[in-house]
Amino acid sequence: MTNDLPSSITYAVIGAGVHGMSTAWHLAMELEKKGTGSGADIIVLDKTAPGAGATGIACGCVRNFYMTEELHPILRHSVDVWMHDPVNFGFQQVGYISCGETNQIADYENLHRSQNAVDYHSDLYVGADARSFLTNIWPDFKTDGIDVAIHEKISGYAGTMQFVRGLAEKCRQHGVRILSGVEVENYDMADGTVSALHTSQGVIKVDTVFLCVGAWVGKHWNLLGKPTALDCAYPDGGSATKDMWTYWRLLEGEVYIDEPYRAANDLDPPVLHVELMNTPVIEHGTGRELDDHLYVYWKNGAERMDRMGVQGGTIPVMIGPEAKLDPYGHDNKDYQAEPEFADYICAAMGQLMGRFEGCRPNFRDRPNGGIGAFTPDNVPIFDWILPNVYMCADSNHGFKMAGVGKLVARQIVGGNDVAELKPFGMDRFAAGRTFGASNSHCPWV
Ligand SMILES: Cc1cc2nc3c(=O)[nH]c(=O)nc-3n(C[C@H](O)[C@H](O)[C@H](O)COP(=O)(O)OP(=O)(O)OC[C@H]3O[C@@H](n4cnc5c(N)ncnc54)[C@H](O)[C@@H]3O)c2cc1C
Repeated sequence: MTNDLPSSITYAVIGAGVHGMSTAWHLAMELEKKGTGSGADIIVLDKTAPGAGATGIACGCVRNFYMTEELHPILRHSVDVWMHDPVNFGFQQVGYISCGETNQIADYENLHRSQNAVDYHSDLYVGADARSFLTNIWPDFKTDGIDVAIHEKISGYAGTMQFVRGLAEKCRQHGVRILSGVEVENYDMADGTVSALHTSQGVIKVDTVFLCVGAWVGKHWNLLGKPTALDCAYPDGGSATKDMWTYWRLLEGEVYIDEPYRAANDLDPPVLHVELMNTPVIEHGTGRELDDHLYVYWKNGAERMDRMGVQGGTIPVMIGPEAKLDPYGHDNKDYQAEPEFADYICAAMGQLMGRFEGCRPNFRDRPNGGIGAFTPDNVPIFDWILPNVYMCADSNHGFKMAGVGKLVARQIVGGNDVAELKPFGMDRFAAGRTFGASNSHCPWV
């Protein structure tokens, strides 16, 4: 056993990504506030180090563009957390704009109503108003086919490792210990609860465990004796048996630029997301059709770049119910984007904005991949999975969800009554509240 690893602890958090560290930090603050404990009662264990998972390599987009309305309050709380210390978290509150075609107008109207109902301020533009709104920000925006746009004013993006460092600092400020290089390898069970963690550095007795292991969640799910498939009942009366975890690999990359990426007002533009479900992507110069629909997002590359550039991506690719988790991220050669992705994103960006026409030679050729574990309905699960094990499984949505840890901490210290988390319980699958399909080609909405 290392000198660092205590023999017992009240709260053990497994995983030092956004959810593990946000939970630990907020739990420390809640305990202090209530006078029932402090950060000294909490330990965060990471098999590698803070930010070794998806949190450290995310694109960093912070937005609330979700057709799943139950997520809107989660993002409202999350922006509050981002704004707690935007400097240390690297948060750039530039806003977020999403636009689409006529077929999505009704979805955008619902989204706009729901976002504003929880004080997540956004403006909606339809038809010619949408097109002029976009060209006022980006004069070279080619808006053909666009019929709707939403502007989330309080969204933005963050530097991913800046956020990791900021969260780790918050934990330390409140006396939470983060131990790197400690892998949880197995669990001791007693009366259906976890009594101790077997780690690569020894055994630690625990009262409460937070399972915040990102893409590795399936491995721990199995260790805890949980089923690999789940019966899902839907609100329309339908049902299906689904794999508990499905892995997807993300397609992201960076494009160098010679001039700063600026809006007409000379400021850093909002994060941009465009889904044109009926518009093919045509390569500039060759006329080659790369896909029959367009889906792309991008923003300033910020901390990711060695020189000026933008960073973005498109719809991830499904791997299936099994995936090779280690090495993770950029180090795993099996899950990097193919050259076709570079062709696609450069063509899509050039199709939308004059400044990116012919930008393919400027694509930065380096590994950019990472995988995520998605739930049966592609929506997060935040819930107890054993009487003393709380799981944050964000279905690969959650760099932006800095506020989940705040809500989880309230739930633990305040006695299990946080309304915002209720829709994300495991009970939804049996109770006919499995989330359904949405009007998009992407599993993230
Ligand atoms: C390429 C990419 C881009 C993304 N872009 C965005 C984006 O722009 N916006 C957004 O909101 N979301 C984005 N996401 C999703 C988001 O990054 C994740 O949903 C989120 O970061 C997951 O956080 P986490 O805390 O659950 O897990 P992670 O950040 O993966 O952290 C889990 C930690 O657990 C540790 N661990 C695993 N097993 C063990 C063990 N047995 N013992 C101890 N420690 C262990 C790991 O080392 C890791 O550090 C992206 C994801 C990827 C992969």
